[in-house]
Amino acid sequence: MKLKSLEISGFKSFADFTKIEFLPGMTGIVGPNGSGKSNISEAIRWVLGEQSAKSLRGNKMPEVIFAGSADRKPLNRAQVRITFDNSDHYLNSDFSELTVTRKLFRTGESEYLINEQSCRLKDVLELFMDSGLGGDSFSIISQGRVESIFNSKPEDRRVIIEEVAGVFKYKKHKQKAERE
Ligand code: ATP
Ligand code: MG
Repeated sequence: MKLKSLEISGFKSFADFTKIEFLPGMTGIVGPNGSGKSNISEAIRWVLGEQSAKSLRGNKMPEVIFAGSADRKPLNRAQVRITFDNSDHYLNSDFSELTVTRKLFRTGESEYLINEQSCRLKDVLELFMDSGLGGDSFSIISQGRVESIFNSKPEDRRVIIEEVAGVFKYKKHKQKAERE
């Protein structure tokens, strides 16, 4: 499974349609402070179903919609589309390319689509469950979290490293087996 592209429009500082293509190899995004780098990683978390406005540095979800600037009016809709190459069928789907879209309107109305078919949030969450990309995974680490990892106790840091390495679930299984 590979991240192919991200299309953002009306989300946070991205008023205009912006498409980022992730070509083979490593992609780095650089820019001055406040230029929207963190907003890009938040767009990825958001389209994958993030429900916490706080973890997107806001209070309420509609705050992710472009709020206007000195020379632009606010917009009424945020939309993010993410496309994965799933030709190895790492994600549990017959499709070899998967596009997930999330839309949110100021009215509060929202929509999720998988390959342009309207679906439920649950369907999006299930698609990425156990993929290493869902929920509290460490595939996306925010600036604040880097600090908290550095400042954490060695034992806590070890848990994080074990989880990333995939050892954590075996430890849990072992603990369970020992109890039984
Ligand atoms: P740094 O290098 O400091 O980490 P960054 O490149 O990560 O900066 P972001 O935090 O992604 O920058 O972007 C912050 C900018 O996004 C701010 O200018 C903020 O005003 C703008 N912004 C956030 N939410 C919205 C919104 N809903 N509408 C318009 N602009 C927004
Ligand atoms: Mg940032």
